[in-house]
Amino acid sequence: MSHAFHSSDASALRPSACPGLLRIVHALDGGICRVKLAGGKLSATQALAIAGAIDEHASGIVDITNRANLQLRGVKHGHEDALIAALLDAGLGPQNTQHAFADDVRNVMISPAAGRDASALFDTTALTADLLTLLQSDTRFVALSPKFSLMLDGGERLMMLDHPHDIWFSAMPHHERSAPLFAFGLAGCPPVAAEHESALVAVTASDLATFTRALIHTFLDLATPDDTRIRDLLAKHSIESIIRHAERKSGVQALRDVSIERWRREPADASRRLGAYRQNDGQRWHVGAQPALGRINSAVLRGLAELTQDNERATLRMTPWQSVLLTDIDPANLDATLRKLEALGLATSSQNPLTRVIACTGSTGCAKSQADTKADALKLAAHVPEHTQVHLSGCPRSCAAAHRAPYTLLAVANGRYDLYQTHDPREPNGFGRCIARGLTIDEAADVLQASALPPTDEPFDA
Ligand code: SF4
Repeated sequence: MSHAFHSSDASALRPSACPGLLRIVHALDGGICRVKLAGGKLSATQALAIAGAIDEHASGIVDITNRANLQLRGVKHGHEDALIAALLDAGLGPQNTQHAFADDVRNVMISPAAGRDASALFDTTALTADLLTLLQSDTRFVALSPKFSLMLDGGERLMMLDHPHDIWFSAMPHHERSAPLFAFGLAGCPPVAAEHESALVAVTASDLATFTRALIHTFLDLATPDDTRIRDLLAKHSIESIIRHAERKSGVQALRDVSIERWRREPADASRRLGAYRQNDGQRWHVGAQPALGRINSAVLRGLAELTQDNERATLRMTPWQSVLLTDIDPANLDATLRKLEALGLATSSQNPLTRVIACTGSTGCAKSQADTKADALKLAAHVPEHTQVHLSGCPRSCAAAHRAPYTLLAVANGRYDLYQTHDPREPNGFGRCIARGLTIDEAADVLQASALPPTDEPFDA
């Protein structure tokens, strides 16, 4: 089957600087095509299709993003439509390609271990599919920013909790109910610590999709053309008035009680993105591995597809730590799977210094970058002390991290960085406190070794 969708169609219908599958945006190293994956999942067939397509139509390089999507880099001029057709043929596009907006709005973040995590309170798989269908089918959502995003947290141990979302839901136990409720909030993250903002209200799983639809309609009812995200709306409307508007629209009565206000989400454990962990069936395992700086090439993608095919029930998922997770590995295949991931050049343990750094595209691909952040990060990695995590950013936009790393090196000139430090991944003030200016990478390594934060069990949250 071939699809006659042209990259110019999406750009004309929805002008935006944000790349999408249907809207290839130009960068220094060629076009960028962003492929949004439902729940981060990629079938082996799709991985092979992408590997073939990027060899033919792009640079053969793929970045895993901090939203667990894929960014294909270096799309060749004149190859855009052929690349789009190959991706659509592999079932990687939106449900309805006639709706250009449907590609943009597919932003639902879930745990990469959804449906497999032994600690989860709720399997979010089916609900995620409902939300994705809802987002792509309501033509009023054409007005949403491509960055408008939802989070659906099933209470998994492996869950990215520090990326703010326009709307977040998080499974919580409730003393009066056998099934968990979903605590809910706007323009933020689920509360983990006492000082975090409490959940507002809660809804049942069966009301969640209806309530979400009403919330987004409420946003669109109240937003002015300048309000692109829910945080913009909150500057003019109280949270309570937004919730009441959504309740009236949906007929859903959200639940309010003191236990919801007091609820704090169990801390997640990002270290479970690396190595092997037993799944909720008590039998099979999920295995995680990290490519250096979240970047893989077509050969690695083919290797991951083969690994998925080697394990009868396995699924391949991308994670918001810019890493990969293979689920449903039989115990008999566990060692071989770990060895193959290492042979593909992926780190399966935090002992590998490459798990301690992330970097944005940098000056080889982005005109805004002051430095070659990726090359500098590779240079720095071997000198980063254990338990220290560093983010190198070419400019303040922080494309590689949607939260704050313990240390950020912000490029100020080629090979020169200001160093920032914070203890709070939800740091409200930029990258935190500036502790040194204009460092070379060698100088940064010395400062990091001298001032490393105390060891933490929380590895890097890219
Ligand atoms: S953080 Fe800045 S320099 Fe780096 S990729 Fe994003 S826009 Fe470019």
